[in-house]
Amino acid sequence: MYTDKNGNQWYKVGLHTHTTLSDGRLTPEEMAEVYKNAGFDAVAITDHWKYYPEGEINGLKIISGCEYNIGSHNTIDGVMHIVGIGMKENPNLERATTERQQAIDAINRLGGMAVLAHPAWSLNTKEDVKALNGFSLLEIYNTVSAVEQSSRPYSGYIADVLANDGIEFPLIATDDAHYYNGEDEAKSYIMVNAESGEVEDILTAIKDRRFYSTQGPQLYIKREGYKIIVDSSECRMINFLSNSSWEGDRVIRGEKLTHAEYAMRDYERWVRVEVVDENGCYAWSNVIMK
Ligand SMILES: [Zn+2]
Ligand SMILES: [Zn+2]
Repeated sequence: MYTDKNGNQWYKVGLHTHTTLSDGRLTPEEMAEVYKNAGFDAVAITDHWKYYPEGEINGLKIISGCEYNIGSHNTIDGVMHIVGIGMKENPNLERATTERQQAIDAINRLGGMAVLAHPAWSLNTKEDVKALNGFSLLEIYNTVSAVEQSSRPYSGYIADVLANDGIEFPLIATDDAHYYNGEDEAKSYIMVNAESGEVEDILTAIKDRRFYSTQGPQLYIKREGYKIIVDSSECRMINFLSNSSWEGDRVIRGEKLTHAEYAMRDYERWVRVEVVDENGCYAWSNVIMK
């Protein structure tokens, strides 16, 4: 947690981790130790088809969660992983028979949020997403999808083509930690501007979109009409992405950048922001619709 210069409190939150309850390498207690030491305030335990309830482990708040991986490994046959966070009870879904929409509906029915996990890794298309109702969040970055035997971690493309169709989901960065080998734990997360570090307040703030996704850089977005104003910690790139494929003033590169502004053109329907610091760490805003 940190307090920004306006006095707002920001909590460090991981929304996708695995433990020995499914295919993760650490027990929930060992995972909690790792994340607590990395400064996290709350983490969701999202084992495959194994609901973990809300609680606290050694001072780390635990958000309830479960991941429903539907389909096998062949993306031609259809692979979709749906993470549920914040469900008040175990949805008790059957792995053999649960379909995508059923998983999403069960998560929502129990007060949770359904996350489209690592759509790039799964090669999900915008048609796959548009065929479903009830997603609350989309993973724009998934750390484990870049390590070991995977290499497709970034899902900006699908977020952008969906935004072109007028559809947007708040964008989260997650670790999806499995290995805990120094590469997939405590790397990608969200910073949440919540009233307190209690799980209920954190979930409320996520629902209210009071968060940004990051691997380290701080990112604050303000909007004045069609002008998007960015303040950040020191970065080497501030990038405004939109439905326009090219603009002369959309990517600002330099040293120790902390501020940029971008005026949306008439034909621009949405904008989102990415910043990169000198270590190559990213932060991502949500999509800002016009
Ligand atoms: Zn997954
Ligand atoms: Zn996962």
